[in-house]
Amino acid sequence: MRITIIGAGYVGLVAAVCFACGGHQVICLEKDEARCQMLSEGQCPILEQKLPEMLTRALSKHTISFTTQPKEAIPHGEMIFIAVGTPSREDGQTDLGALFEAVEKIGKYAKNGAIVVIKSTVPLGTTENVRQLIQDTRPTDQSTIQVICNPEFLREGSAVDDFLCPDRIVAGTNDPNAGEQLFDLYHSILKRTIPCVLTSPINAELIKCASNAYLAVRLSYINELAGLCERAGASIGQVTEAMGMDPRIGSEYLMAGVGYGGSCLPKDTRVLVQTARSAGAPLTVLESAITANRMVTVRLAKRVAERISQGETIAIWGLSFKAGTEDVRNSPILALIKELSINLNCSFQIYDPAGCEFASCYPKEIQQKLFTTPEKALFGSSALIIGTAWPQFREIDLLALPSTMKKRIIFDFVNALDGKKARYAGFEYYACGEG
Ligand code: NAD
Repeated sequence: MRITIIGAGYVGLVAAVCFACGGHQVICLEKDEARCQMLSEGQCPILEQKLPEMLTRALSKHTISFTTQPKEAIPHGEMIFIAVGTPSREDGQTDLGALFEAVEKIGKYAKNGAIVVIKSTVPLGTTENVRQLIQDTRPTDQSTIQVICNPEFLREGSAVDDFLCPDRIVAGTNDPNAGEQLFDLYHSILKRTIPCVLTSPINAELIKCASNAYLAVRLSYINELAGLCERAGASIGQVTEAMGMDPRIGSEYLMAGVGYGGSCLPKDTRVLVQTARSAGAPLTVLESAITANRMVTVRLAKRVAERISQGETIAIWGLSFKAGTEDVRNSPILALIKELSINLNCSFQIYDPAGCEFASCYPKEIQQKLFTTPEKALFGSSALIIGTAWPQFREIDLLALPSTMKKRIIFDFVNALDGKKARYAGFEYYACGEG
């Protein structure tokens, strides 16, 4: 099939490369010229397992190309996927500027009969607005362009595997035939038969936001439980392990840590809360989960302040919002750094495994604090905070670390290390949720 993908970010690029490797003919429209150039030369701008090799393969087979020109990309597509960012504005509403810019171009250049697939996460009612807008710009088009809301559930760090082996495919559309064509397209590249949900656009929009909101509630609950464990002398690790053995609960998403972050959960929860409030059906559980998430930072900063004085230097290992990605959008560790800077006037020495290659993706003020190895970041510091559970941190021989720290204190806020080993190596060791 001839496919157009608009937006070569975490979602769009993964989708484009997976479809292209599955033998489809893909043109990716990316408005950022530098990114487009990089991709055309086979350089992958994000850290994502398997993606660089697959990009190279698709380019060599000529099944993928990148352009900044809507006129070139959009008429190509029998299916046109929109995967542009839909970030939160200051007021909590979704910024749909990029999405409607893409829709305007589709209205102008799409061939009759094309199917538009919205992969971006959008607020309730957006799919219908998109359909209406396209129809308004093409009043003489007899064949009508169908619009499907097809939310994406991939996770950064395992995006290719998630895309090729999803738990379900959701298509929200008023045209079942268009929905079936989308399911057929997916099944032409997927590793097994996947449950397909054909539903209304509004249900599809809500399925995505409600799923992310549920995960946020779950994480906030576990993080508050971790705070209780610290006070009560209990162990969050042992408590959640046993909780997860109950099949009604399940063992996923029970890890206590620094709070949820990233480009999805914080914004999707805020948007859903606002939508629910304006509909007169407030989601008070979700509102509390958002507040609880903010309070994780306060709780952890207080723990640090009990052992660290004003103006001391703190080493940080792990900056991305989760392991396996370079993405620091809404990373909770950035919020913790901010809180500690304000309260303790600390300075920071940061190491992240993705930091050397992707430093330019970080905020400017963070780039100046980056170190190239975990050991170098420790030099002269009074404590180490572990903020992202990169598996390689567990492999570090704590006994062999140079004794260049002023105090040997570790705050392992993501429980990445073996506490016993840390204590044996002479560290004063504080884990998250372990009293
Ligand atoms: P991103 O910011 O990484 O990528 C968006 C890309 O679109 C950027 O490269 C940008 O330059 C490009 N772009 C913006 N406007 C454009 C236009 N008019 N024409 C061409 N290109 C344009 O975003 P992302 O993380 O891939 O997320 C995309 C959408 O998918 C969002 O709605 C997000 O909520 C949703 N989503 C993201 C994830 C995730 O893990 N990142 C998972 C599921 C769903």
